Amino acid sequence: MSETLFSKIIRREIAADIVYEDDEILAFRDIDPKAPCHVLFIPKTPIATLDDAGPEQAALLGRLMLEAAAYARREGFAERGYRVVMNCRDEGGQSVYHIHLHLLAGRQMGWPPG
Ligand code: AMP
Repeated sequence: MSETLFSKIIRREIAADIVYEDDEILAFRDIDPKAPCHVLFIPKTPIATLDDAGPEQAALLGRLMLEAAAYARREGFAERGYRVVMNCRDEGGQSVYHIHLHLLAGRQMGWPPG
């Protein structure tokens, strides 16, 4: 897979507002936020899209969800609610081909998404 700017963020070659990190996951604020709280949770090992993930990545994908939920809880959004989104490829709205989970919180979300 060709490298994306998220690999450079992981290596600290591009600055980002990092809000969470562990051995497997990095989370940082989206540069173009779509909600008062908009954080991206990414695996440190790049996977291009959700369609490229396999059963061996099930635990890692689950951890992205749980770390997003834990962050939302810590930041006081759990009771009000929030949205997590993973866009897949062109029609899904994916622009960076390094899998990432969007956490959006702090405003009322509409449905269906545009
Ligand atoms: P997606 O469209 O689902 O692939 O989401 C990619 C997200 O990455 C977008 O919401 C962008 O605003 C965000 N993004 C792009 N470049 C950066 C950056 N340097 N730092 C933080 N977020 C970024």
